[in-house]
Amino acid sequence: MTQLNEPHLPADPSGDSAWETALAQLDEAAELMGLAPGVHEILRAPKRSLSVSVPFRLDDGSTRVCQGYRVHHNVTRGPAKGGLRYHSSVDLDEVKALAMWMTWKCAVAQIPFGGAKGGVAVDPKALSRSELERMTRRYASEILPFIGPERDIPAPDMNTDEDIMSWIMDTYSMNHGYSVPGVVTGKPVSIGGSRGRAGATSRGVMYTIFSTLKSLGIGIEEVSVAIQGYGKVGGHAAQLLHDAGCRVVAVSDVDGGLYRDRGLDPEAINRHKKLGGSVSGCPGAEPVTNAELLEIDCDVLVPAAVEGVISVKNADKVKARVVCEAANGPITFEGDKILSERGVFVVPDILANSGGVTVSYFEWVQDIQAYFWSEEDVNERLRQIMERAFVEVYQMAEDKGLTMRQAAHWIGVGRVAEAHLTRGLFP
Ligand code: NAD
Repeated sequence: MTQLNEPHLPADPSGDSAWETALAQLDEAAELMGLAPGVHEILRAPKRSLSVSVPFRLDDGSTRVCQGYRVHHNVTRGPAKGGLRYHSSVDLDEVKALAMWMTWKCAVAQIPFGGAKGGVAVDPKALSRSELERMTRRYASEILPFIGPERDIPAPDMNTDEDIMSWIMDTYSMNHGYSVPGVVTGKPVSIGGSRGRAGATSRGVMYTIFSTLKSLGIGIEEVSVAIQGYGKVGGHAAQLLHDAGCRVVAVSDVDGGLYRDRGLDPEAINRHKKLGGSVSGCPGAEPVTNAELLEIDCDVLVPAAVEGVISVKNADKVKARVVCEAANGPITFEGDKILSERGVFVVPDILANSGGVTVSYFEWVQDIQAYFWSEEDVNERLRQIMERAFVEVYQMAEDKGLTMRQAAHWIGVGRVAEAHLTRGLFP
Protein backbone atom coordinates (compact mmCIF):
# COMPACT_ATOMS: atom_id res chain seq x y z
CA MET A 1 0.00 0.00 0.00
CA THR A 2 1.23 3.49 -0.73
CA GLN A 3 1.22 6.42 1.61
CA LEU A 4 -2.21 8.05 1.71
CA ASN A 5 -1.77 11.34 3.52
CA GLU A 6 0.70 13.93 4.49
CA PRO A 7 3.14 12.37 6.96
CA HIS A 8 1.46 12.33 10.36
CA LEU A 9 2.61 14.40 13.27
CA PRO A 10 4.54 12.11 15.61
CA ALA A 11 2.87 11.39 18.94
CA ASP A 12 4.31 13.20 21.91
CA PRO A 13 5.58 10.20 23.89
CA SER A 14 6.14 12.36 26.96
CA GLY A 15 2.44 13.25 26.99
CA ASP A 16 0.55 11.53 29.76
CA SER A 17 -2.84 11.37 28.06
CA ALA A 18 -4.22 7.99 27.09
CA TRP A 19 -4.42 9.01 23.43
CA GLU A 20 -0.77 10.13 23.33
CA THR A 21 0.21 6.87 25.01
CA ALA A 22 -1.81 4.76 22.56
CA LEU A 23 -0.38 6.59 19.53
CA ALA A 24 3.20 6.39 20.83
CA GLN A 25 2.78 2.62 21.39
CA LEU A 26 1.43 2.15 17.86
CA ASP A 27 4.19 4.29 16.32
CA GLU A 28 6.84 2.31 18.18
CA ALA A 29 5.34 -1.01 17.04
CA ALA A 30 5.09 0.26 13.45
CA GLU A 31 8.76 1.19 13.45
CA LEU A 32 9.91 -2.07 15.06
CA MET A 33 7.95 -4.24 12.64
CA GLY A 34 8.50 -2.09 9.53
CA LEU A 35 4.76 -1.56 9.04
CA ALA A 36 3.74 -0.26 5.58
CA PRO A 37 3.28 3.53 5.95
CA GLY A 38 -0.20 3.50 4.39
CA VAL A 39 -1.47 0.89 6.83
CA HIS A 40 0.18 2.73 9.72
CA GLU A 41 -1.64 5.89 8.66
CA ILE A 42 -4.98 4.06 8.53
CA LEU A 43 -4.46 2.51 11.96
CA ARG A 44 -3.56 5.83 13.61
CA ALA A 45 -7.01 7.28 12.99
CA PRO A 46 -10.26 5.82 14.33
CA LYS A 47 -12.58 4.68 11.53
CA ARG A 48 -15.52 6.67 12.91
CA SER A 49 -16.19 8.76 16.01
CA LEU A 50 -19.67 9.72 17.12
CA SER A 51 -20.24 12.53 19.57
CA VAL A 52 -23.78 12.86 20.90
CA SER A 53 -25.55 15.08 23.34
CA VAL A 54 -27.65 13.14 25.81
CA PRO A 55 -30.57 15.10 27.28
CA PHE A 56 -32.55 13.40 30.04
CA ARG A 57 -35.00 14.33 32.74
CA LEU A 58 -33.86 14.52 36.37
CA ASP A 59 -36.16 13.36 39.16
CA ASP A 60 -37.02 16.98 40.03
CA GLY A 61 -38.43 17.51 36.52
CA SER A 62 -35.51 19.58 35.21
CA THR A 63 -33.44 18.60 32.15
CA ARG A 64 -29.78 17.79 32.10
CA VAL A 65 -27.59 17.32 29.02
CA CYS A 66 -24.42 15.20 29.07
CA GLN A 67 -21.88 14.58 26.34
CA GLY A 68 -21.59 11.01 25.06
CA TYR A 69 -19.26 9.27 22.62
CA ARG A 70 -18.91 6.03 20.69
CA VAL A 71 -15.78 5.37 18.66
CA HIS A 72 -15.09 2.55 16.20
CA HIS A 73 -11.34 2.39 15.88
CA ASN A 74 -11.17 -0.48 13.41
CA VAL A 75 -13.62 -3.09 12.09
CA THR A 76 -11.45 -4.86 9.54
CA ARG A 77 -11.37 -8.18 11.47
CA GLY A 78 -15.03 -8.13 12.56
CA PRO A 79 -17.72 -6.10 14.34
CA ALA A 80 -16.55 -3.37 16.68
CA LYS A 81 -16.38 -4.39 20.35
CA GLY A 82 -15.70 -2.42 23.48
CA GLY A 83 -16.98 -1.20 26.80
CA LEU A 84 -19.00 1.80 27.86
CA ARG A 85 -17.63 4.08 30.56
CA TYR A 86 -19.47 6.60 32.75
CA HIS A 87 -17.01 9.03 34.34
CA SER A 88 -16.80 12.80 34.62
CA SER A 89 -13.36 12.80 32.93
CA VAL A 90 -14.53 10.97 29.78
CA ASP A 91 -13.67 12.85 26.58
CA LEU A 92 -13.27 11.96 22.92
CA ASP A 93 -9.49 11.45 23.13
CA GLU A 94 -9.82 9.00 26.02
CA VAL A 95 -12.52 7.03 24.17
CA LYS A 96 -10.35 6.97 21.01
CA ALA A 97 -7.41 5.54 22.98
CA LEU A 98 -9.55 2.89 24.65
CA ALA A 99 -11.04 1.93 21.25
CA MET A 100 -7.58 1.57 19.70
CA TRP A 101 -6.43 -0.70 22.54
CA MET A 102 -9.56 -2.83 21.97
CA THR A 103 -8.51 -3.36 18.35
CA TRP A 104 -5.10 -4.74 19.34
CA LYS A 105 -6.55 -6.69 22.29
CA CYS A 106 -9.03 -8.60 20.11
CA ALA A 107 -6.27 -9.36 17.62
CA VAL A 108 -3.85 -10.59 20.32
CA ALA A 109 -6.56 -12.90 21.70
CA GLN A 110 -7.47 -13.93 18.12
CA ILE A 111 -11.08 -12.90 18.61
CA PRO A 112 -12.87 -11.86 15.39
CA PHE A 113 -13.80 -8.37 16.53
CA GLY A 114 -12.56 -4.87 15.85
CA GLY A 115 -12.08 -2.19 18.49
CA ALA A 116 -14.64 0.24 19.89
CA LYS A 117 -15.34 2.16 23.07
CA GLY A 118 -18.01 4.45 24.39
CA GLY A 119 -18.45 6.84 27.22
CA VAL A 120 -20.59 9.50 28.81
CA ALA A 121 -19.03 12.43 30.68
CA VAL A 122 -21.04 12.10 33.88
CA ASP A 123 -20.55 11.20 37.52
CA PRO A 124 -23.08 8.34 37.83
CA LYS A 125 -22.88 8.46 41.62
CA ALA A 126 -24.60 11.84 41.48
CA LEU A 127 -27.62 10.34 39.67
CA SER A 128 -30.52 8.33 41.08
CA ARG A 129 -31.16 4.87 39.62
CA SER A 130 -34.09 6.16 37.56
CA GLU A 131 -32.02 9.11 36.26
CA LEU A 132 -29.27 6.66 35.33
CA GLU A 133 -31.78 4.52 33.44
CA ARG A 134 -33.23 7.49 31.52
CA MET A 135 -29.75 8.74 30.63
CA THR A 136 -28.64 5.27 29.51
CA ARG A 137 -31.73 4.73 27.35
CA ARG A 138 -31.31 8.15 25.71
CA TYR A 139 -27.58 7.53 25.10
CA ALA A 140 -28.46 4.12 23.61
CA SER A 141 -31.06 5.79 21.34
CA GLU A 142 -28.51 8.38 20.19
CA ILE A 143 -25.92 5.73 19.23
CA LEU A 144 -28.53 3.31 17.83
CA PRO A 145 -27.34 3.55 14.19
CA PHE A 146 -23.79 2.68 15.34
CA ILE A 147 -24.55 -0.51 17.31
CA GLY A 148 -25.94 -3.98 16.61
CA PRO A 149 -24.78 -7.60 16.77
CA GLU A 150 -23.09 -7.30 13.36
CA ARG A 151 -21.85 -3.73 13.85
CA ASP A 152 -20.76 -2.89 17.35
CA ILE A 153 -21.44 -4.64 20.65
CA PRO A 154 -21.04 -2.54 23.84
CA ALA A 155 -20.13 -4.07 27.22
CA PRO A 156 -19.54 -2.85 30.80
CA ASP A 157 -16.50 -0.76 31.72
CA MET A 158 -15.88 1.72 34.54
CA ASN A 159 -19.10 2.58 36.42
CA THR A 160 -21.33 0.54 34.12
CA ASP A 161 -22.87 -2.79 35.02
CA GLU A 162 -25.27 -5.50 33.89
CA ASP A 163 -28.34 -3.33 34.65
CA ILE A 164 -27.05 -0.71 32.23
CA MET A 165 -26.43 -3.44 29.61
CA SER A 166 -30.04 -4.65 30.14
CA TRP A 167 -31.42 -1.13 29.50
CA ILE A 168 -29.35 -0.80 26.31
CA MET A 169 -30.45 -4.24 25.12
CA ASP A 170 -34.09 -3.37 25.87
CA THR A 171 -33.89 0.04 24.16
CA TYR A 172 -32.34 -1.50 21.04
CA SER A 173 -34.85 -4.39 21.04
CA MET A 174 -37.86 -2.07 21.46
CA ASN A 175 -36.69 -0.08 18.43
CA HIS A 176 -36.44 -3.26 16.38
CA GLY A 177 -39.66 -4.86 17.59
CA TYR A 178 -38.03 -8.10 18.76
CA SER A 179 -35.40 -9.17 21.31
CA VAL A 180 -31.80 -8.74 20.20
CA PRO A 181 -29.64 -10.16 23.00
CA GLY A 182 -26.45 -10.06 20.88
CA VAL A 183 -26.36 -6.24 20.83
CA VAL A 184 -24.55 -6.04 24.18
CA THR A 185 -22.48 -8.37 26.35
CA GLY A 186 -22.15 -8.41 30.11
CA LYS A 187 -25.95 -8.83 30.42
CA PRO A 188 -27.65 -10.82 33.15
CA VAL A 189 -27.89 -14.55 32.37
CA SER A 190 -31.71 -14.26 32.44
CA ILE A 191 -31.68 -12.28 29.14
CA GLY A 192 -28.86 -14.04 27.30
CA GLY A 193 -25.78 -13.22 29.34
CA SER A 194 -22.97 -15.74 29.62
CA ARG A 195 -22.14 -17.70 32.71
CA GLY A 196 -18.69 -16.63 33.89
CA ARG A 197 -18.78 -13.15 32.26
CA ALA A 198 -18.93 -11.18 35.52
CA GLY A 199 -15.53 -12.39 36.74
CA ALA A 200 -13.98 -13.05 33.32
CA THR A 201 -11.59 -10.10 33.15
CA SER A 202 -10.27 -10.87 36.62
CA ARG A 203 -10.02 -14.59 35.90
CA GLY A 204 -8.03 -13.74 32.76
CA VAL A 205 -5.77 -11.47 34.85
CA MET A 206 -5.22 -14.38 37.26
CA TYR A 207 -4.33 -16.81 34.44
CA THR A 208 -1.91 -14.21 33.05
CA ILE A 209 -0.26 -13.69 36.43
CA PHE A 210 0.13 -17.48 36.79
CA SER A 211 1.68 -17.74 33.30
CA THR A 212 4.04 -14.89 34.19
CA LEU A 213 5.11 -16.44 37.48
CA LYS A 214 5.70 -19.77 35.74
CA SER A 215 7.84 -18.11 33.06
CA LEU A 216 9.86 -16.28 35.71
CA GLY A 217 10.22 -19.41 37.86
CA ILE A 218 8.28 -17.97 40.83
CA GLY A 219 5.83 -20.14 42.82
CA ILE A 220 2.23 -18.97 43.26
CA GLU A 221 1.99 -19.59 47.00
CA GLU A 222 3.02 -16.70 49.15
CA VAL A 223 3.37 -14.33 46.21
CA SER A 224 2.38 -10.88 47.47
CA VAL A 225 -0.01 -8.84 45.36
CA ALA A 226 -1.16 -5.20 45.57
CA ILE A 227 -4.27 -4.20 43.63
CA GLN A 228 -5.30 -0.63 42.82
CA GLY A 229 -9.04 -0.34 42.10
CA TYR A 230 -11.54 -2.58 43.87
CA GLY A 231 -14.32 -2.57 41.29
CA LYS A 232 -15.56 -5.28 38.96
CA VAL A 233 -12.05 -6.18 37.83
CA GLY A 234 -9.89 -5.45 40.90
CA GLY A 235 -12.39 -6.78 43.46
CA HIS A 236 -12.89 -10.10 41.67
CA ALA A 237 -9.15 -10.39 41.04
CA ALA A 238 -8.44 -9.94 44.77
CA GLN A 239 -10.86 -12.75 45.62
CA LEU A 240 -9.59 -15.13 42.91
CA LEU A 241 -5.91 -14.55 43.75
CA HIS A 242 -6.58 -14.92 47.48
CA ASP A 243 -8.49 -18.17 46.84
CA ALA A 244 -5.59 -19.42 44.71
CA GLY A 245 -3.16 -18.96 47.63
CA CYS A 246 -1.60 -15.59 46.85
CA ARG A 247 -1.13 -13.01 49.62
CA VAL A 248 -3.16 -9.91 48.70
CA VAL A 249 -1.32 -7.33 50.80
CA ALA A 250 -2.97 -4.12 49.57
CA VAL A 251 -6.13 -2.96 47.80
CA SER A 252 -7.67 0.46 47.17
CA ASP A 253 -10.48 2.34 45.53
CA VAL A 254 -10.99 5.99 44.68
CA ASP A 255 -11.44 6.83 48.40
CA GLY A 256 -8.20 5.21 49.63
CA GLY A 257 -6.63 1.88 50.40
CA LEU A 258 -5.68 -0.85 52.88
CA TYR A 259 -2.43 -2.63 53.65
CA ARG A 260 -1.71 -5.76 55.68
CA ASP A 261 1.60 -7.54 55.28
CA ARG A 262 0.17 -10.92 56.35
CA GLY A 263 -2.55 -10.61 53.71
CA LEU A 264 -6.06 -9.14 53.54
CA ASP A 265 -9.30 -11.09 53.60
CA PRO A 266 -11.38 -10.10 50.51
CA GLU A 267 -14.57 -11.44 52.10
CA ALA A 268 -14.18 -9.08 55.07
CA ILE A 269 -13.40 -6.23 52.67
CA ASN A 270 -16.51 -7.03 50.59
CA ARG A 271 -18.68 -6.94 53.74
CA HIS A 272 -17.15 -3.60 54.77
CA LYS A 273 -17.59 -2.16 51.26
CA LYS A 274 -21.25 -3.21 51.18
CA LEU A 275 -21.90 -1.15 54.30
CA GLY A 276 -20.00 2.05 53.42
CA GLY A 277 -19.44 1.85 49.66
CA SER A 278 -15.64 1.83 49.97
CA VAL A 279 -12.83 -0.51 51.02
CA SER A 280 -11.35 2.41 52.94
CA GLY A 281 -11.48 2.08 56.72
CA CYS A 282 -11.91 -1.71 56.80
CA PRO A 283 -10.80 -2.85 60.29
CA GLY A 284 -7.66 -4.95 60.75
CA ALA A 285 -5.56 -3.18 58.12
CA GLU A 286 -3.42 -0.05 57.88
CA PRO A 287 -4.61 2.78 55.63
CA VAL A 288 -2.60 3.56 52.48
CA THR A 289 -3.11 6.18 49.82
CA ASN A 290 -3.39 5.25 46.16
CA ALA A 291 0.02 6.79 45.52
CA GLU A 292 1.59 4.71 48.33
CA LEU A 293 -0.05 1.51 47.09
CA LEU A 294 1.78 1.77 43.76
CA GLU A 295 5.12 1.90 45.60
CA ILE A 296 4.51 -0.99 48.01
CA ASP A 297 7.17 -3.66 48.26
CA CYS A 298 5.35 -6.64 46.71
CA ASP A 299 5.88 -9.26 44.01
CA VAL A 300 2.97 -8.35 41.73
CA LEU A 301 1.32 -4.94 41.31
CA VAL A 302 -2.09 -4.94 39.60
CA PRO A 303 -3.32 -1.48 38.57
CA ALA A 304 -7.07 -2.06 38.01
CA ALA A 305 -8.52 1.46 38.07
CA VAL A 306 -7.73 4.35 35.73
CA GLU A 307 -5.17 5.38 33.08
CA GLY A 308 -1.79 6.99 33.58
CA VAL A 309 -1.23 6.18 37.27
CA ILE A 310 2.39 5.09 36.65
CA SER A 311 4.37 7.76 34.82
CA VAL A 312 7.77 9.47 34.90
CA LYS A 313 6.70 10.88 38.27
CA ASN A 314 6.68 7.54 40.10
CA ALA A 315 7.92 4.72 37.81
CA ASP A 316 11.33 4.71 39.51
CA LYS A 317 9.64 4.09 42.87
CA VAL A 318 7.65 0.99 41.84
CA LYS A 319 9.12 -1.92 43.82
CA ALA A 320 7.05 -4.78 42.38
CA ARG A 321 8.86 -7.33 40.23
CA VAL A 322 5.82 -7.77 37.98
CA VAL A 323 3.19 -5.21 36.97
CA CYS A 324 0.08 -6.78 35.46
CA GLU A 325 -2.12 -4.17 33.75
CA ALA A 326 -5.71 -5.10 34.61
CA ALA A 327 -6.77 -1.51 33.83
CA ASN A 328 -6.45 -0.08 30.35
CA GLY A 329 -3.45 2.22 29.94
CA PRO A 330 -2.37 2.53 33.60
CA ILE A 331 1.27 3.16 32.56
CA THR A 332 2.26 6.09 30.34
CA PHE A 333 4.68 5.57 27.44
CA GLU A 334 7.61 7.16 29.28
CA GLY A 335 6.71 5.51 32.59
CA ASP A 336 6.84 2.18 30.77
CA LYS A 337 10.36 2.90 29.49
CA ILE A 338 11.56 3.51 33.05
CA LEU A 339 10.01 0.25 34.32
CA SER A 340 11.54 -1.67 31.44
CA GLU A 341 15.02 -0.17 32.06
CA ARG A 342 14.68 -1.18 35.71
CA GLY A 343 13.86 -4.77 34.72
CA VAL A 344 10.25 -4.73 35.93
CA PHE A 345 8.26 -7.36 34.00
CA VAL A 346 5.18 -5.54 32.66
CA VAL A 347 2.27 -7.58 31.29
CA PRO A 348 0.45 -5.13 28.99
CA ASP A 349 -3.27 -4.40 29.18
CA ILE A 350 -3.97 -5.68 25.66
CA LEU A 351 -2.88 -9.11 26.86
CA ALA A 352 -3.57 -9.08 30.62
CA ASN A 353 -7.18 -7.86 30.64
CA SER A 354 -8.37 -9.58 27.45
CA GLY A 355 -10.35 -12.14 29.48
CA GLY A 356 -13.30 -9.72 29.52
CA VAL A 357 -13.59 -9.37 25.77
CA THR A 358 -12.89 -13.07 25.34
CA VAL A 359 -15.93 -14.08 27.40
CA SER A 360 -17.90 -11.22 25.79
CA TYR A 361 -17.11 -12.96 22.50
CA PHE A 362 -18.35 -16.25 24.01
CA GLU A 363 -21.55 -14.45 25.11
CA TRP A 364 -22.12 -13.05 21.60
CA VAL A 365 -21.54 -16.50 20.07
CA GLN A 366 -24.00 -18.07 22.54
CA ASP A 367 -26.60 -15.35 21.81
CA ILE A 368 -26.30 -15.86 18.06
CA GLN A 369 -26.53 -19.65 18.42
CA ALA A 370 -29.21 -19.37 21.12
CA TYR A 371 -27.34 -22.21 22.83
CA PHE A 372 -25.70 -21.63 26.20
CA TRP A 373 -22.61 -23.14 27.78
CA SER A 374 -21.81 -24.19 31.34
CA GLU A 375 -19.56 -21.99 33.49
CA GLU A 376 -16.92 -24.74 33.44
CA ASP A 377 -16.91 -24.66 29.63
CA VAL A 378 -16.58 -20.87 29.61
CA ASN A 379 -13.73 -20.84 32.14
CA GLU A 380 -11.83 -23.64 30.41
CA ARG A 381 -12.08 -22.00 26.97
CA LEU A 382 -11.02 -18.70 28.54
CA ARG A 383 -7.99 -20.35 30.16
CA GLN A 384 -6.91 -21.85 26.85
CA ILE A 385 -7.14 -18.52 25.01
CA MET A 386 -5.34 -16.58 27.75
CA GLU A 387 -2.53 -19.12 28.01
CA ARG A 388 -2.06 -19.36 24.26
CA ALA A 389 -1.96 -15.56 23.91
CA PHE A 390 0.55 -15.27 26.76
CA VAL A 391 2.86 -17.91 25.25
CA GLU A 392 2.73 -16.23 21.82
CA VAL A 393 3.60 -12.82 23.25
CA TYR A 394 6.27 -14.17 25.62
CA GLN A 395 7.90 -16.18 22.82
CA MET A 396 7.92 -13.17 20.52
CA ALA A 397 9.43 -10.99 23.27
CA GLU A 398 12.16 -13.58 23.93
CA ASP A 399 12.92 -14.21 20.24
CA LYS A 400 13.16 -10.55 19.26
CA GLY A 401 14.46 -9.05 22.50
CA LEU A 402 11.31 -6.95 23.01
CA THR A 403 9.29 -5.96 26.04
CA MET A 404 5.99 -7.82 26.49
CA ARG A 405 4.17 -4.65 25.40
CA GLN A 406 6.21 -4.27 22.23
CA ALA A 407 5.66 -7.96 21.43
CA ALA A 408 1.91 -7.79 22.10
CA HIS A 409 1.59 -4.71 19.89
CA TRP A 410 3.69 -6.34 17.16
CA ILE A 411 1.31 -9.33 17.19
CA GLY A 412 -1.91 -7.32 17.51
CA VAL A 413 -1.03 -4.59 15.02
CA GLY A 414 0.44 -7.22 12.70
CA ARG A 415 -2.80 -9.24 12.59
CA VAL A 416 -4.90 -6.14 11.91
CA ALA A 417 -2.44 -4.97 9.22
CA GLU A 418 -2.54 -8.41 7.60
CA ALA A 419 -6.34 -8.23 7.46
CA HIS A 420 -6.12 -4.79 5.81
CA LEU A 421 -3.60 -5.95 3.24
CA THR A 422 -5.61 -9.13 2.53
CA ARG A 423 -8.86 -7.21 2.00
CA GLY A 424 -7.23 -4.39 0.03
CA LEU A 425 -8.10 -0.71 0.10
CA PHE A 426 -11.68 0.13 -0.93
CA PRO A 427 -12.61 1.13 -3.63
P1 NAD B 1 -15.37 -0.30 38.09
O1 NAD B 1 -16.09 0.98 37.90
O2 NAD B 1 -16.14 -1.52 38.39
O3 NAD B 1 -14.24 -0.14 39.21
C1 NAD B 1 -13.28 0.88 39.18
C2 NAD B 1 -12.55 0.91 40.51
O4 NAD B 1 -11.48 1.85 40.43
C3 NAD B 1 -13.42 1.34 41.69
O5 NAD B 1 -13.03 0.61 42.83
C4 NAD B 1 -13.06 2.82 41.85
O6 NAD B 1 -13.30 3.29 43.16
C5 NAD B 1 -11.60 2.77 41.52
N1 NAD B 1 -11.07 4.06 41.09
C6 NAD B 1 -11.65 4.97 40.28
N2 NAD B 1 -10.84 6.03 40.12
C7 NAD B 1 -9.74 5.79 40.85
C8 NAD B 1 -8.54 6.49 41.09
N3 NAD B 1 -8.33 7.70 40.56
N4 NAD B 1 -7.58 5.91 41.88
C9 NAD B 1 -7.82 4.70 42.42
N5 NAD B 1 -8.91 3.98 42.24
C10 NAD B 1 -9.87 4.52 41.46
O7 NAD B 1 -14.52 -0.48 36.75
P2 NAD B 1 -13.91 -1.84 36.15
O8 NAD B 1 -14.87 -2.38 35.17
O9 NAD B 1 -13.39 -2.69 37.26
O10 NAD B 1 -12.71 -1.26 35.30
C11 NAD B 1 -11.43 -0.96 35.88
C12 NAD B 1 -10.38 -0.90 34.77
O11 NAD B 1 -10.35 -2.15 34.09
C13 NAD B 1 -10.65 0.16 33.71
O12 NAD B 1 -9.40 0.63 33.23
C14 NAD B 1 -11.31 -0.63 32.61
O13 NAD B 1 -11.19 -0.03 31.33
C15 NAD B 1 -10.52 -1.92 32.70
N6 NAD B 1 -11.19 -3.08 32.11
C16 NAD B 1 -12.43 -3.47 32.52
C17 NAD B 1 -13.01 -4.59 31.96
C18 NAD B 1 -14.35 -5.11 32.44
O14 NAD B 1 -14.74 -6.21 31.98
N7 NAD B 1 -15.06 -4.43 33.30
C19 NAD B 1 -12.35 -5.30 30.95
C20 NAD B 1 -11.09 -4.89 30.56
C21 NAD B 1 -10.51 -3.77 31.14
